[in-house]
Amino acid sequence: MSETNFIHNIIDKDLQTQKYGGRVYTRFPPEPNGYLHIGHAKSICLNFTTAKKYSGKCNLRYDDTNPVKEDVEYVDSIENDVKWLGFDWEKRLFASDYFDRMYECAVHLVKKGKAFVCDLTADEIKEYRGTLTQPGRESPYRDRGVSENLQLFEEMKAGKYADGEKVLRAKIDMSSPNINMRDPVIYRIAHSSHHNTGDKWCIYPMYDYAHPIEDAIEGITHSICTLEFEDHRPLYDWTLQELDWPTPPQQIEFARLNLTNTVMSKRYLKALVDDKKVDGWDDPRMPTIAGLRRRGYTPEAIRDFCERIGVSKANSTVDVGLLEHCVREDLKTKVPSKNVVFDPIKVVITNYPDNETEEVEVENNKEAPEMGNRMLPFGRELYIDGEDFMEIPEKKYFRMFPGNEVRFKGAYFITCNEAVRNADGQLTELHCSYDPATKSGSGFDGRKVKGTVHWVEARTAIPVKVRIYDYLMVENGQGDSELNLDSLKETVAYAEPSLKDAKPGERFQFFRHGYYIADEKLTAGSEKVFNQIVDLKSSWKK
Ligand code: ATP
Ligand code: MG
Repeated sequence: MSETNFIHNIIDKDLQTQKYGGRVYTRFPPEPNGYLHIGHAKSICLNFTTAKKYSGKCNLRYDDTNPVKEDVEYVDSIENDVKWLGFDWEKRLFASDYFDRMYECAVHLVKKGKAFVCDLTADEIKEYRGTLTQPGRESPYRDRGVSENLQLFEEMKAGKYADGEKVLRAKIDMSSPNINMRDPVIYRIAHSSHHNTGDKWCIYPMYDYAHPIEDAIEGITHSICTLEFEDHRPLYDWTLQELDWPTPPQQIEFARLNLTNTVMSKRYLKALVDDKKVDGWDDPRMPTIAGLRRRGYTPEAIRDFCERIGVSKANSTVDVGLLEHCVREDLKTKVPSKNVVFDPIKVVITNYPDNETEEVEVENNKEAPEMGNRMLPFGRELYIDGEDFMEIPEKKYFRMFPGNEVRFKGAYFITCNEAVRNADGQLTELHCSYDPATKSGSGFDGRKVKGTVHWVEARTAIPVKVRIYDYLMVENGQGDSELNLDSLKETVAYAEPSLKDAKPGERFQFFRHGYYIADEKLTAGSEKVFNQIVDLKSSWKK
């Protein structure tokens, strides 16, 4: 990350004062309860590039302290996604590996008189907690003696009590203006199997208690998280202070990424998958890293996007057009152009010799001449794009209409003479004529034409399936009612023959249509299915 930000300013100062002895150590701590999304990418880029900038280290740590929603499938997908984005961790760790240590820390707090076992129900705890304007009330169990607390906590661990029967709470201050400091629950009972520790534990630490300990054990210096944890920071600091941790890590909050036309809560994305409203976590419409990858986004484009949006303390919503701009910019000089026609209209060049074909030369990428040229078959029968013909042209329409002459890209000047219709009045083909003197590259310097159209030769063209995506959400949509279920359109297009060699995951520009990728899952053998990555026109304004 070349640019600096407020987090780097904090680190610069810490380096000056030698707060952490010159060390910078960050971590990316996902909860393995879903696939990562583009919001997580912001956090990944920030943590890993910050470590890199300061020659520090960054861990990948699974924050797996909640047994109910976590799954090995998610663990694997997260690792894969972080790697794909181009980052490498110092260590890959599980918070659940620290359960013993966290338990010991809790016992330590109990012994210090800083934690107690409470028998109030969840509802009662909530009621006792008070509100923003009213202080809370102390639990009747708050003054239990140390030895009773130790015994009860031990029994909780041994499985003597049912879920919800008892909790361990920090003893802080029921009248604190910060509700998080009103004797927060730090351990709860959950008789459920954990993906990593199995049935070893039936008590699990709460996030606010566990997270600072995880950071501290790993020697993290700067614990970067999103803004909603700002009010939890006093509890983060309290925990490490009461545990007498030397040079505890510091939590720093930044604004999470919000994107237009996108929902980024894992819970909601999971519901879309579970309810089969999308075709899995990697549906190309999903804002997940897996979805973006299958859609055809590159890691470079996503990293560029994360750098451009920057890091701030104020929540805002970024236009999804910026993300699209980044992938266009990245692919512009990277991928070859191909002729593919949509809504094909047949063109017959009536003065071109029957049963004859020739090869014409076209460039692979106008923006990258070093990508060279390729040969395309040209003949008497061709297909052009449906939108390149208008029987009655509108103003400023320079493509095909009866009486008009255009250039067929890389080939000849061609005049449209007649639109042929069948008995039902449907357009069946266009009868055209070509001027042999106008071959591209022949140095022809006669009349000018205003329009250029692309084409494929009819006998050698191959049909390909093309999937065009719209946004899954209306602009600032948050829920089901704003879900755009009409967001996938599949059509068959005719492609130049070279696309028969397209490999799953290979990207192209479909000339004048946009950027496309051969779908990883659906492309096999001669069956070619392309996802539209992004169209060519940018709606995004700087
Ligand atoms: P969600 O609300 O989507 O479930 P989460 O915050 O619960 O997300 P975690 O797995 O806990 O998901 O997140 C791992 C890290 O990614 C955290 O540090 C979190 O702050 C960060 N993160 C999550 N969503 C975003 C976002 N939209 N923008 C930036 N960072 C994010
Ligand atoms: Mg979370």
